[in-house]
Amino acid sequence: MAEPIRSCLGCKGRFPQSQLRRLALRKAPLGWAVVFDDARAIPGRGAWVCRDNQLCQERAFKPARLAGAFKIKDGPVRLMTG
Ligand SMILES: [Zn+2]
Repeated sequence: MAEPIRSCLGCKGRFPQSQLRRLALRKAPLGWAVVFDDARAIPGRGAWVCRDNQLCQERAFKPARLAGAFKIKDGPVRLMTG
């Protein structure tokens, strides 16, 4: 089976899933947190970003872009790593 193609949230390019890292959404005490989901275990909407591209990650991790990707309207969103 062919590998799924996903769009990078940073550059909007389309790449095989293995070249991207998955981002997933978790409820945080104040709003929402976006976390890396390398195990692809968190259900719900995901977003993807180029695995080895720092510029893509800087672009993708802007709160407005994360909110757009996850269709969040009810509160702040932030990136939470580790
Ligand atoms: Zn990218």
